Amino acid sequence: MTASASNQPLDSFWMPFTPNRAFKHAPRLFVRAQGMHYFTPDGRRILDTLAALWCVNAGHGDPRIVRAIQAQAAELDFVSSFNMSHPLAFEVAERLSGFAPAGLGRVFFSNSGSEAVDTALKIARAYHRARGEGARIRFIGRAKAYHGMGWGGLSVGGLARHKREFAPLLGDVDHLCLPYDPQRSAFSRGQAEYGAHFADELESLLTTVHDPATVAAVIVEPVIGSGGVYPPPKGYLERLRGICDRHGILLIFDEVITGFGRLGAPFAARALNVTPDIICCAKGLTNGSVPMGATIAREGVFEAIANRPAGQIELFHGYTYSAHPLACAAALATMDVYENDDLFGRVRTLAPVWAESAHSLQAARHVRDVRSIGLLAGVDLEPREGAAGARGAEVGQRCFDAGMLVRNSGDTLLFSPPLIISEEQIAHLFETLGRVLAATA
Ligand code: PLP
Repeated sequence: MTASASNQPLDSFWMPFTPNRAFKHAPRLFVRAQGMHYFTPDGRRILDTLAALWCVNAGHGDPRIVRAIQAQAAELDFVSSFNMSHPLAFEVAERLSGFAPAGLGRVFFSNSGSEAVDTALKIARAYHRARGEGARIRFIGRAKAYHGMGWGGLSVGGLARHKREFAPLLGDVDHLCLPYDPQRSAFSRGQAEYGAHFADELESLLTTVHDPATVAAVIVEPVIGSGGVYPPPKGYLERLRGICDRHGILLIFDEVITGFGRLGAPFAARALNVTPDIICCAKGLTNGSVPMGATIAREGVFEAIANRPAGQIELFHGYTYSAHPLACAAALATMDVYENDDLFGRVRTLAPVWAESAHSLQAARHVRDVRSIGLLAGVDLEPREGAAGARGAEVGQRCFDAGMLVRNSGDTLLFSPPLIISEEQIAHLFETLGRVLAATA
């Protein structure tokens, strides 16, 4: 199989999360990106409605980030952080803990969201063990959650199709239900009024199914992202926090999507005013430009693990590329852009415009629900009889033909544009989608 324009062979690259054989019959390639747009080999300009893959919050190709990476590559290409490091690593950690809620001050670097999550799960077990509560090994995740593709993240994740071929996963895992009732909460803007009580399922799991003294951590995305964009009902995260506190369980927020401005604050924890013990982040940390993940822990978590003689390694964990110099340079430049351009403030201003525009689809053909918060939206379509996902895929293709990159997860369309999107582009996005829906059977 070759790409028709260049005759380039396509077989060797085993593409992730892609129907490889179908893709290679009709490859979708991009050769350049700038601002809100991708460009195809034949010069078509495509509006990016997902910040690539929930990553490029500052928009594509920001010259300040590009220059920082170029300069760093010329200065110090690589040094590991195993018992050595470089100044930028400490600077990024310091800046990042300033982005996190007060008290979360210990930053462990990795290269992806998946690694950030697996790191958090390992830290949770190590924390309890260090405090003499080694029986706390169990994790509780949630239906429809995506926590990446490591064994830990996959185990606590709540998307069955992702797990089918790979069992056995971690055994000591349970899941909470999705805090969503289509009868009561469809078409909510932001956090639904209804549904705080869904958190009480955690209390009942801990009193009827599991001994709470065996539970290490509860992990949730504050807003479920790739599982369909489900904001937490009002009061839900607060209740989870309270239950975890009562039972000595750590609360982990996976902010790989919600971090870096999606909700108009550095982290959703700050936007929603609920502080977890550990935050996982990646993606927007470097604006997607160089892979990087980070796990940010509460001081007390680090201190408990570090309670041993000073010469000893506290945590037997790490990656060759933890705190890679190029990633650190990219992260610092990205955080500068977020702050200097006040992109998080921009989200707070744009969010009502975004919600208004997204919810204008309520009456559109096939639309079953619209959920929005910050600069995120999920649009559920009525599935076709006996062909779940087919309508979503067709809408995605028709949007692409109309000049917009739109991601579908089955019959749910997912939106998370760069934070630099203009009001005109927001209007264009949802008007185009409305037209595409009207034209789709
Ligand atoms: N956690 C969440 C919430 C994510 O959305 C993702 C990726 O989309 C991940 C973890 C995994 O990140 P990565 O693909 O960088 O490993």
